[in-house]
Amino acid sequence: MNVMTPSMLDQRAYSDAAKQFLSRAPRLFINNEFVSSSHDATIAVEDPSSGREIARIVDASDADVNRAVAAARRAFDDGRWSGLPPMVRDRTINRLADLLEAHADEFAELEAIDNGKPKGMAAAVDIPGAVSQLRFMAGWSAKVAGETTQPYTIPNGTVFSYTVKEPVGVCAQIVPWNFPLLMACLKIAPALAAGCTLVLKPAEQTSLTALRLADLIVEAGFPAGVINIITGNGHTAGDRMVKHPDVDKVAFTGSTEIGKLINRNATATLKRVTLELGGKSPVVVMPDVDVAEAAPGAAGAIFFNAGQVCVAGSRLYAHRSVFDQLLEGIAATAPFWAPRPSLDPEAHMGAIVSKEQHDKVLGYIEAGKRDGASVVMGGDAPSSNGGYFVNPTVLVNVNPQMSVVREEIFGPVVVAQRFDDLDEVAKAANDTCFGLGAGIWTKDVSTMHKLAAKIKSGTVWGNCHAVIDTALPFGGYKESGLGREQGRAGIEAYLETKTVIIKM
Ligand code: ADP
Repeated sequence: MNVMTPSMLDQRAYSDAAKQFLSRAPRLFINNEFVSSSHDATIAVEDPSSGREIARIVDASDADVNRAVAAARRAFDDGRWSGLPPMVRDRTINRLADLLEAHADEFAELEAIDNGKPKGMAAAVDIPGAVSQLRFMAGWSAKVAGETTQPYTIPNGTVFSYTVKEPVGVCAQIVPWNFPLLMACLKIAPALAAGCTLVLKPAEQTSLTALRLADLIVEAGFPAGVINIITGNGHTAGDRMVKHPDVDKVAFTGSTEIGKLINRNATATLKRVTLELGGKSPVVVMPDVDVAEAAPGAAGAIFFNAGQVCVAGSRLYAHRSVFDQLLEGIAATAPFWAPRPSLDPEAHMGAIVSKEQHDKVLGYIEAGKRDGASVVMGGDAPSSNGGYFVNPTVLVNVNPQMSVVREEIFGPVVVAQRFDDLDEVAKAANDTCFGLGAGIWTKDVSTMHKLAAKIKSGTVWGNCHAVIDTALPFGGYKESGLGREQGRAGIEAYLETKTVIIKM
């Protein structure tokens, strides 16, 4: 494995623009203004590549959340957004996308500093992803439509009946720390296109890009109160958002544990809920593959974003005949995926988002070893000057009872197992409470379709992994979620259907 000197793992200098942004006082974004909290509580912002505190954000109080929800409620009820011509909503959302594109480099740097991911990855994935979410959904503003339907039991011509699609109302949108800006835009885009207003809460570990986005929201010309951004802890500010009586819909991406809690809390007033939760996604490698292609594919499936991906390919099932060769191929990717500070231009994998998460990942590796697993790659943390790095790790000699096989680690750790036939591997792939994504590697079209049909998950990839497109629905089977985001399903999740029946 790579042994890096601590100096190679030292974070690089921030740009002047980033320094200037980090020197801002902690504020919330309500009614198109940056406002102070009702109290003094703040949360430290850390750079995971150094472990150093670099700024502070507001830890929103109940009063702050109430204020943001009230702003969104007013903005929804008076129709200042939903009442605009759809073309204007479309154009405003697209203007936000234009502004984001114009500031892409700055956003990529902020994301890298805040989350620990390489700036190059943020520039290639997160920022363009956020822009495409906005652009695709902007177009739906003018394309949602109801139907006129002839009733079944009523004589023709005696009533006129039709359906109308209406925005669901005020949305509480809570997003995680793994793709902060991308998740924020994935959430706000369909809500805005539908004509909803919203309160967004980024994760307490990674709120910087959402706060910077607020500047662009004003510049793009959104009416006040349409988009409000609250920073703060989940169990306080997030909880208040979910339980607030003036909120009509909750959209959440995060852990299955918190998703279940949110679903219970939102039920009290029967809020509409969409949940995008955890996973333990299988990657199945059949005997006919070209290992030179499948090995880097399987490595990327788990090591991209340091494994902090809900669809990370964290359970690798390789056919017995290619298992050893595949693992050798994955081990050969170690230099490429060696952790580096997020502003190092050579970085492909950065730091883990926080000390808590870093220790959790290493704790899982230790638990795996205690249970009898063997480390064939990584398995430890490189020595660094305070950064939260973990080496890309492959564990073998595992069995389905081990926590490393059953639970979502959310780090660069994959468990590799052998299989002999298709039914066996389909059963093993489905032996999980999750069902978010799955990868299949084979050149045999028939095997591909057979296995794709057998695996219970919201998305199945063939000869690729974690390819996500804003036009294609995304969501989970089983305990990986509720509802779908993106595509037509994504906009539908922000609409109510009203049926109108008029006697003539
Ligand atoms: P992770 O475990 O990966 O940190 P979480 O599911 O805890 O992810 O957090 C994802 C988001 O959910 C964050 O924005 C967090 O603040 C928020 N959150 C955490 N707990 C709650 C809660 N009880 N109610 C509402 N939001 C919460």
